[in-house]
Amino acid sequence: TQQIQLHSRPEGLPTPNNFQLTEQNLPSIQTGEFLVKNLWMSVDPYMRGRMMDRKSYIPPFQIGEVLEGGAIGEVIESQHPDFPVGSKVTSMLGWRSHFISQGQEITRLPDVDIDPSHFLGVLGMPGMTAWTGLNHIAALQKGETLFVSAAAGAVGSVACQIGKLMGARVIASVGSDEKAEHLRALGIDEVINYKTCGDLNTALATAAPEGIDVYFENVGAEHLSAALNNMKDHGRIAVCGMIAQYNDTIPTPGPSNLAQIIAKKLKIEGFIVFEHWAHYPEFTSLMGQWLASGNIEAEQTIYHGLEQAPNAFLGLFEGKNKGKMLVKLSD
Ligand code: NDP
Repeated sequence: TQQIQLHSRPEGLPTPNNFQLTEQNLPSIQTGEFLVKNLWMSVDPYMRGRMMDRKSYIPPFQIGEVLEGGAIGEVIESQHPDFPVGSKVTSMLGWRSHFISQGQEITRLPDVDIDPSHFLGVLGMPGMTAWTGLNHIAALQKGETLFVSAAAGAVGSVACQIGKLMGARVIASVGSDEKAEHLRALGIDEVINYKTCGDLNTALATAAPEGIDVYFENVGAEHLSAALNNMKDHGRIAVCGMIAQYNDTIPTPGPSNLAQIIAKKLKIEGFIVFEHWAHYPEFTSLMGQWLASGNIEAEQTIYHGLEQAPNAFLGLFEGKNKGKMLVKLSD
């Protein structure tokens, strides 16, 4: 198997030198085991947090160990009755070409007529995150104004589209004109390019003259500050991520306008999608219908080959992806 290990802990923005591609021979499978060839793997911003040696909701990666992350694979040899050859499986054993398993923490994909890669994106963790944040955390209501940051990404693009389906007026912020055009074509009401708009606070005030009811926070830093200034009274902020701060070497200070939380009586709630996984079947049923009816578009950006996985991961911090960033490992 080919695999990618954490070679060194990044300081600031990660570089290709933090990763190392190695090869290892796998033993033959034994009774009760099966061999999986990975077809797709996911790169996600949260992996940056696991590269730091600190206590968090998920343990840190160790130097010299193979990285982990969501993956879709196919069983190519089996001595396990529940995982016959040809089964498609999801696992957290990405960043490697093959692995042997006894079935623990491996899930067989349902036999549905949809590309399996979508189980790493719109039908998987990122899509579930968007839906959870809007429904269970922010309780978005019809007619409300929703603001989504990192809005062309895996979570953000789904949050924008679900926001429209829930009857909200949706304002999005993205880092390129191409992404902005794409979201407008999907029917998003106002899209701000935060890199070219000048003062984000003013751009947001122009896009949401009556204020924002719900902010789906993916970015942090200036985005949070601008959102606080433009929230309506009793607005809600679902704090999903703060990607602008993940590579900080010196912590970003909190916004200077936090007192807006008091004046506007805001409710701010962070969440981790895995704590809401009991709702996953409900989500997949809804999302399956939205995809089938064409109500949600599932955009992907695909890098090819395991050796490209570090570049795909680094690309998340440079805005190289539209929709879900994926690495295709094999046909
Ligand atoms: P994305 O697909 O959105 O990829 C990251 C995007 O973030 C980039 O494409 C880029 O787009 C934008 N970005 C990168 N750096 C900056 C910056 N400095 N300022 C503003 N935008 C930036 O990733 P995901 O959809 O997977 O994740 C989105 C957020 O959701 C992340 O913060 C992630 O940590 C969080 N998350 C949280 C979960 C939870 O359970 N709480 C679960 C899953 C994700 P652009 O070109 O627009 O700048």
